[in-house]
Amino acid sequence: MSARIIDGKAIASALRERIGEEARAFAKAHGAPPCLAVVLVGDDPASQVYVRNKGRATRESGMISIEKRLPASASEAEVAAVVRALNEDPSIDGILVQMPLPVHIDAHSVINEIDPAKDVDGLTETNAGRLLLGVQGLRPCTPEGCVILAKSVRDRLEGLRAVVVGRSILVGKPLSLLLLAENCTVVMAHSKTRDLPEICRSADILCAAVGRPRLIEGDWVKKGAVVLDIGINRVEEDGAARLVGDVDFEAAKERAEAITPVPGGVGPMTIACLLRNTLIAAARRRGVRGPA
Ligand code: NDP
Repeated sequence: MSARIIDGKAIASALRERIGEEARAFAKAHGAPPCLAVVLVGDDPASQVYVRNKGRATRESGMISIEKRLPASASEAEVAAVVRALNEDPSIDGILVQMPLPVHIDAHSVINEIDPAKDVDGLTETNAGRLLLGVQGLRPCTPEGCVILAKSVRDRLEGLRAVVVGRSILVGKPLSLLLLAENCTVVMAHSKTRDLPEICRSADILCAAVGRPRLIEGDWVKKGAVVLDIGINRVEEDGAARLVGDVDFEAAKERAEAITPVPGGVGPMTIACLLRNTLIAAARRRGVRGPA
């Protein structure tokens, strides 16, 4: 039987609606809506589209969106100064620095300038450390979205074997830690992993965050598994450009119980979780409970 397709668009849209309602209630209670600031350095066309989409989604959720744009020639000190000014500004609840930054800027240093209480991408050392320690912090958006999608299929993740292919700071590592926090038994696989197909076949929850089109073949998927495909790869096929994931979707859906499509699976959850984090940050900064 063919797998259930996990409708990330619908799940993200329901989450955004709920966050929107809570953001409006927050605005009434506190006199102003939560505010997200996005810092964009340079004129990378894809980044401009992402920033525009984030701004629109933020406003649609009843929050304030501001953009700080710097030229590609901006120095690391100049970008850091913008971040520090946003840290100091009490009207700003969340700060996001759009990646990639120009090559002459050390992204890690700039991210670490962000006040951890406003770090809605969850990428500062402080928030990464809090995730590792299992204490309260802001969690990275894409991995958080993956856990929500997994829970849309399985009420309880406890005891399930999760295999995460990819160990980046942005996706693979935090996703592994979030699944561990759900009491999954987690295997982290990467480019040096031996017997990757066999390891994938052991997964009740198989997560692919690699960036290689259709690396995960259909028969690497255990029958009845939940497959979360985080990869977004642009390929040319039959003379047309299209997006595909890291999983061979057509083959995998014949074995999985549920699977995310690309596009329309994990992708939409990232922005929804960014909005959720902005509301969480705004609430915590005022000492009140954030969204569930
Ligand atoms: P990175 O390039 O930072 O990391 C890729 C990871 O995959 C590395 O850990 C690497 O291993 C591993 N890897 C590479 N080749 C193989 C292989 N042949 N077998 C096993 N593991 C391998 O990528 P990101 O984590 O940033 O992104 C991964 C994918 O997710 C990309 O397609 C990206 O576009 C997408 N993405 C999607 C998002 C969304 O919103 N849906 C958000 C963010 C990313 P090693 O560490 O050994 O080099």
